Amino acid sequence: MEFKYVIINFLILVAVLVIAGRKTVKKLFGGRYERINSELDRAEEIEKMPMPFLEMPSAESLTADCSEETEKAESIVAEKIASIESFGEREKSEIHRGMIEDARKELFSVMKENVTNLFSYEKYQNAIRALDRQVIDEILKKISLTPGDMAYLKHHDVLYVTLTSAYPLSEDIVADVDKATSGMLEAVGGKTSLWVKEDSELIGGLRLRIGDTVYDGTVSEELYQFSKNLSREPIMHDDTVGHLIQEFTEKAESFRPKIHQYQLGRVMTVSDGICWMDGLADIMYGEVVEFECGERGMVLDIQQNRIGCVIFGDFAQIESGSRVRRVGRIASVPVGECLLGRVVDALGNPIDAMGYLPCKETRPIEYKAPGILDRAPVNSPLHTGIKAIDALVPIGKGQRELIIGDRQTGKTAIAVDTIINQKGKDTVCIYVAIGQKDTLVAEIKEKLESHGAMEYTTIIAVPASASAALQYIAPFSGSAMAEYFMYAGKDVLIVYDDLSKHAVAYRELSLLLHRPSGREAYPGDIFYLHSRLLERAAHLSDELGGGSITALPIIETLAGDISAYIPTNVISITDGQIFLDAELFNAGQRPAVNVGLSVSRVGGAAQTPSMKKVSSSLRTRLAQYRELAEFMQFGSDIDEETKKTLASGKLLTEALRQPRYAPIGDSMQTVLIFAVSNGFADGISPDSMESFERELYKFMLEEKSELAVKLKEAKKFDDELKNELIKALSEFNERS
Ligand code: ATP
Ligand code: MG
Repeated sequence: MEFKYVIINFLILVAVLVIAGRKTVKKLFGGRYERINSELDRAEEIEKMPMPFLEMPSAESLTADCSEETEKAESIVAEKIASIESFGEREKSEIHRGMIEDARKELFSVMKENVTNLFSYEKYQNAIRALDRQVIDEILKKISLTPGDMAYLKHHDVLYVTLTSAYPLSEDIVADVDKATSGMLEAVGGKTSLWVKEDSELIGGLRLRIGDTVYDGTVSEELYQFSKNLSREPIMHDDTVGHLIQEFTEKAESFRPKIHQYQLGRVMTVSDGICWMDGLADIMYGEVVEFECGERGMVLDIQQNRIGCVIFGDFAQIESGSRVRRVGRIASVPVGECLLGRVVDALGNPIDAMGYLPCKETRPIEYKAPGILDRAPVNSPLHTGIKAIDALVPIGKGQRELIIGDRQTGKTAIAVDTIINQKGKDTVCIYVAIGQKDTLVAEIKEKLESHGAMEYTTIIAVPASASAALQYIAPFSGSAMAEYFMYAGKDVLIVYDDLSKHAVAYRELSLLLHRPSGREAYPGDIFYLHSRLLERAAHLSDELGGGSITALPIIETLAGDISAYIPTNVISITDGQIFLDAELFNAGQRPAVNVGLSVSRVGGAAQTPSMKKVSSSLRTRLAQYRELAEFMQFGSDIDEETKKTLASGKLLTEALRQPRYAPIGDSMQTVLIFAVSNGFADGISPDSMESFERELYKFMLEEKSELAVKLKEAKKFDDELKNELIKALSEFNERS
């Protein structure tokens, strides 16, 4: 009986325990259980998501999420754009660029901040993290050892590997990375040392660094690439924050783990526009590097344990220890037809307030000169329109003719006149102003515009106030722009005004880079520098399109000393020189071409046959005259013969005078020189030479235009043509 009660009691106890216990268990674990269940469901959901950005909201909701900041930024930008609009054309030119740059920077920073905020929300985080496996697999497929790593391993047996992510990584990912990298190094007899790091700046994704090479699959890198691409495009009025975020979202929606590969280095020291760095294992000479602050530089010196580069912009923000990355290309500039009529800086950025340059192509600023087989002989003339030059030192297409002389002797004037004379001759002109005054460049631009020459001309202006680095690369940039046209089969004329200042800029850079200095403190490779620049001028063979670059480098001498270091260098590189004499210039003979010292080594083949024949004795006659004139300063008794030689020499010299901006056609020059050297101008006073010239041109153009054409096109200046010319001139003389 008692036993029966025991059982009943036991059953009651069990029942109470079960009922009360279930409640307690439920009470104790129920919440967590549900949470775990929902987490599991979510995890399943995430796994099922096709891509990590599945949870990305639409562009509208994204913009709405950060509407407050967006509105603020948009109003700042709108204000800026409105204030730019309110300026007149002239003021715009000065402030336009800076303001647009500011507005753009503002836009980017706000956009970046907003996108960064969005990605830090948990829901997006989870989506990105689901990608980790995919990203790391992708990275491990790509990794390899670069030549720089191999060189490093020769001296150190450990290569450092860093795995960075925005959040803690799962152990199997770390183990996989360790296995793959140490396996790769063991194969070449090295070891790795793996460091796993967290860095919230990355926003999401993974970054693996082996030696100096980075394999980057992070959101922050994607953002960086996005803003870089945007900054290459013109700023538009709908370039607002909302628009930018929308664009990024559209991109993000189709986002796949893309691995960006680049190399990193570290800034050691910065001073005077020169930066020394280490790392960047595989960097090449002339490559572009980018600093954390966004400034760029070009590598000019590679040593075993440090790399020297020049900084293009403001170096005040670059700090020792900050990161620097390889951009992955040699310094290059935009090229194309869109450059015509524009004024650009050494990097090809427009500085003429005419807005964005829609160039599609770029070319490296350093490019191999055409080889012997690629070239054709210089055989067609490039007329300067200046009598003293076309007759005595003719220039051919593809030639390099140096303009040399003291300061203020009309060097720039010759170059500008030559550009003006190319009007209607299908020749593209590029004027590179190195270390010139801004006012001078503005004046040249105005003159070219008023003569309709800007249509086919590009001016590269690097003022004296610009950094030595920019002055150094300016002629190379010009050459790259010229090459685009040459390889497209066109004729180009390029003026480097002037290479003395260029040499000084290079000397400055070299001394700052601690290179040993040589003669006149110039670095030893200054000759190579100028020859590799001028060798790029060429007349291409027909197979390569037959285009040409004619180069007119300018060199300034001190007190007429052409035997100084830089003048002798450039004289020996070029195919001749036009020597401008300060004495002649001051005596009023302009252009002040010194006939004795000026020479063109190949241009003779490029003169028209008529001009060649007519001017053949000109040089000796002028030299004779000059010698006699000097001698006669002491003499008193002069015989008739000498008097005649002196008078005709004086007339000839007078005939070679020419004002600026007044180019003369080739056939008119031929007629004038023939007339003066064959006695048709005898008897007129030197002072009336100018009016004689004017009348003669008028007569020829109005009444003998056929003969003018014949002179230009004749294959030979034969007796028949000569007699015809004599007849015409006699007729002219009879009339006046
Ligand atoms: P710099 O050494 O300053 O560069 P430069 O040698 O380039 O000088 P330009 O600036 O071309 O010389 O000319 C110097 C001056 O001579 C200018 O005022 C110019 O107008 C004048 N000039 C040059 N050529 C002629 C000419 N053919 N007829 C009249 N004046 C001229
Ligand atoms: Mg000048």
